[in-house]
Amino acid sequence: MGTGINSPNPEGLSADRPAKSRHAYVTLVTNDDYALGALALLNSLRRSGTEADCAVLHTGAPSPAPLERLARAGARLIETDLLPTSDAFNAAHARDALHGRAPFTKGGKPAFHTPLDNFAKLRLWQLTEYERVVFIDADALVLRNCDRLFAYPEFCAAPNVYESLADFHRLNSGVFTARPSAATFDAMLARLDRPGMFWRRTDQSFLQDFFPDWHGLPVFYNMLQYVWLNLPQLWSWEAIHILHYQYEKPWQDHDKADRLGPLIELWRGYAGLGPLLDPAAMPGPPG
Ligand code: UDP
Ligand code: MN
Repeated sequence: MGTGINSPNPEGLSADRPAKSRHAYVTLVTNDDYALGALALLNSLRRSGTEADCAVLHTGAPSPAPLERLARAGARLIETDLLPTSDAFNAAHARDALHGRAPFTKGGKPAFHTPLDNFAKLRLWQLTEYERVVFIDADALVLRNCDRLFAYPEFCAAPNVYESLADFHRLNSGVFTARPSAATFDAMLARLDRPGMFWRRTDQSFLQDFFPDWHGLPVFYNMLQYVWLNLPQLWSWEAIHILHYQYEKPWQDHDKADRLGPLIELWRGYAGLGPLLDPAAMPGPPG
C-alpha cells in the first residue's frame, strides 16, 4: 500500500501520489475498455481548464499500458478492490442473473460491462483526502468547465432523460456530486448488502434510494446520447457540459453507430483516434 504524505489511505485503497487539490473529478475503471473511455474523459477534463485533481479508481485489472496512459494524461491513480459484498449479493448481480431478472429493453449493454463492478463507485466516499468530488462515468466527456459543481451540495445528479418525460423521476448515476466521508461509506455498505437485496440498476438504484431527496442538475450536466436520437429538441451544443455515452460505447461496433456518427467522431478526437473537433461547431441532430 502506498501512503501519500497528506493523504492517509483508507484501508483497501492505494494512491500513486498525494492529492494536489481538495476537489477532484473521479471516475472508475475495472477493465481495459473503460480505461480507454477514461482516457478520452481525462483529455476532455484537461481541456476544460480545471485545476481540480482528476482521479481514476481502478481495480488493478486493467493492463499496465492503459493505466500508464491515464497517468500521463494527468490522472491520479487509486487502486482498490470491488466492494466486499456477499456471495449471495454477487450472484444476484452477476451479469446473466441481472439481465435475466431486469432486462435492458431500451438499449444494449456491451459485453465488457459487468454490472457488479458498478458498485465500486461507492468507494469514492472513502476518498476523504478530498472535501468534494464530482463522479463522472468513464464513458463521458466534459465539454465545458464544470468546476462550479464543487460548490453544489451532496447529492446532486441529473435526471435519467433519454426517451420521454416519464424519465424525469429517476436520476442517472453517470454524473453526481458527493462529499467523501467514512461514516457515509459505512452506512452505504450496511444498507447495500442485506439478505435478498436486488438493485435492478445497480449503483443507480441504490443511490436514488440512499439519497431520496437528491437535487436535480440541469440535463446539460449529463446529456445522454440517446437524446440525440429520441429528444432532439432538447439538444444544445452550446449548453452541454457533460456528454454521456450511455448503453452502447463510442469505441464499440454497434447498431446505432451510423445514427450517432457526429457524437462518435467527437469522442474519437478526445481519445486521440481522430481530429479534435470543436463541440460548439458541431451540427445539430437531424430533424
Ligand atoms: N464500469 C467499469 N467496468 C464495468 C462496468 C462499469 O469500470 O464492467 C464503470 C465505468 O466507469 C462506467 C460506469 O462504471 O462508465 C458505469 O457503467 P456504464 O457507463 O457502462 O453504464 P451506462 O452508462 O451504460 O448505464
Ligand atoms: Mn455510463
